[in-house]
Amino acid sequence: MHKITLINGDGIGPEISNAVVDIIKASGLDIDWDIQTAGADVIETEGTPLPQRVLDSIKRNKVALKAPVTTPIGKGFRSVNVQLRKDLDLYANLRPCKNLPNVKTRFDNVDIIVVRENTEDLYAGVERQVDADKAESIKIITRKASNRICRFAFDYAVKNGRKEVCCVTKANIMKLSDGLFLDTYRNVAKDYPQIKQREILVDNLCMQLVQNPSQFDVLVLPNLYGDIVSDLCAGLIGGLGVAQGANIGLDYAVFEPVHGSAPDIKGQNKANPTALLLSAIEMLKYIGEDFYAEKIEKALYKTLESGICTPDLGGNATTTEFSKSIINIL
Ligand code: ATP
Repeated sequence: MHKITLINGDGIGPEISNAVVDIIKASGLDIDWDIQTAGADVIETEGTPLPQRVLDSIKRNKVALKAPVTTPIGKGFRSVNVQLRKDLDLYANLRPCKNLPNVKTRFDNVDIIVVRENTEDLYAGVERQVDADKAESIKIITRKASNRICRFAFDYAVKNGRKEVCCVTKANIMKLSDGLFLDTYRNVAKDYPQIKQREILVDNLCMQLVQNPSQFDVLVLPNLYGDIVSDLCAGLIGGLGVAQGANIGLDYAVFEPVHGSAPDIKGQNKANPTALLLSAIEMLKYIGEDFYAEKIEKALYKTLESGICTPDLGGNATTTEFSKSIINIL
């Protein structure tokens, strides 16, 4: 039996976690969940939103499913998400963006995998205030980090039957930093002759994405462009309620929805569990449970096809009604 860490989060986290745990159980797959609380709710008792026991649990189990966790602003705590990425060296941010049945969007046939480098670039936090009127941020790109993210993208493409990996940079302007990322991509690509290569500048990519997104397959990007483009792609498929994600490293992987803890709808039984469920489906594929991943995905699609959805997608089903429908199909 798989033992997996479950961070059930705060805000709408517990509601959508319960829904997803019930759905996975109904699929027939037995998972031994190692439930770990984190976020705003544990600060009072444990003094931090991310207690060491949570990290220890992920290190033991290697894989975690994580609902949204709030880091209180202005109280001196590091973001739980950033800390997890750093402490577990989760260097790849994976954001599959695929149209869902009955979710109204501008385009059909969007099926894009965004692979974002998670550890460097302008996010390295190397900044200085030169004087009162001038600040500088340093963009750091290394061959080591570029190499592992490009390899991750190509390996993902091979494993998941994708055809192309497109490298996104602004290497015509940032010739050294983005140039290094692009050069590394070209070298890695040589090891994957079965996958098509493509290179595009990030500004052109953005225009193409909002005009004809179905031309893209797997995108690999440095951190900052990856951040922006992955949200753009989430918008193409229906926004926060359906946007899944994962942060993956060599040793550990944390699967989580893109959205936050949505305190405005907490406890009202109207949160959409789809983004967390899609993250869980990707997690099942990652641990080799493709059969159950596909089974659950089919049941989710059937539910959406039948017009059952939560208010964020224009429906009137509660979280419970929506997940019950998936469970009934399973
Ligand atoms: P954070 O800073 O934690 O990301 P935020 O308030 O910026 O928080 P979210 O918590 O993601 O962002 O919420 C943004 C909006 O989207 C809110 O109105 C929220 O109700 C809605 N929302 C987010 N996730 C869901 C969901 N799963 N189902 C329904 N609505 C959602």
